[in-house]
Amino acid sequence: MSMRVLITGGASGIGLGLAKRFAARGDRVAICDADGAAVARVRAEHPAFIAAQADVTDEPQMEAFFGDVERAWGGVDVVCANAGTGGPAGRIEDLDYDAWRACLDVNLSGTFLTCRWAARVMRAQGAGLILITSSTAGLFGYPLRAPYAAAKWGLVGLTKTLAMELGPVGVRVNAIAPGAVEGDRMDRVVAMEAAAGGKPENEVRAQYVKGVSLRSWVNVDDLADMALFLASPAASKISGQILAVDGHTETLVP
Ligand code: NAD
Repeated sequence: MSMRVLITGGASGIGLGLAKRFAARGDRVAICDADGAAVARVRAEHPAFIAAQADVTDEPQMEAFFGDVERAWGGVDVVCANAGTGGPAGRIEDLDYDAWRACLDVNLSGTFLTCRWAARVMRAQGAGLILITSSTAGLFGYPLRAPYAAAKWGLVGLTKTLAMELGPVGVRVNAIAPGAVEGDRMDRVVAMEAAAGGKPENEVRAQYVKGVSLRSWVNVDDLADMALFLASPAASKISGQILAVDGHTETLVP
């Protein structure tokens, strides 16, 4: 059965990877992203997608995006609340308060707004799946990355709570917690953490693999496999769960 899938932060990385995999099996896809140039690229490369420039922290923009999608499709089956930002790296004494707030704003408050609009649509239709992108940073302590870890732990609480609120009306809510994903974003994160910790980049990179039982990074298709499973009838009784796709993280501590 073809599904209607909305993805925030869907113009690059994991979000775009999910969008392509849902579309490849015949689902309808709508993405939003704050990056206008990236949205333009998606429009050019995937003309079948609904693609909008919208910032998840901006309530009127999210209202307009969800409104457009609802008018086009009459409802939404899967909402991937995926938009996120790495936030700053540094010791807590040195972190900038505005950078803390900006990180919480996108990762936590933006997901709250996305879930709120998803819940309004899904409660009315009595069905749906909300899929939040958390992180292994939301399952472990993550030195030098306090804002990101705090935001991602917040998403665990949001997932558990919304599963309880929306389960009785037939809406499932789960989170995927990716480990370190190969790609541009982790290249940027490694460079930032190397600078903040005074270490060479190859040491930081090696440290991620060392802390994982399977001694491997994750790729976007690993995450798409999990998203497709959670959207399938095989997962119809799975809700309120944080599903790590990470090769089994043992520690994020260097
Ligand atoms: P990415 O930077 O490639 O993609 C994130 C996308 O979100 C970008 O296109 C960006 O423009 C968009 N975005 C950022 N702020 C936004 C906002 N306010 N409103 C709308 N869009 C916004 O990174 P990614 O790796 O694809 O990250 C996707 C999600 O996965 C994030 O929530 C991230 O925290 C999480 N995650 C990533 C990794 C990893 O290793 N890459 C690991 C764990 C969790």
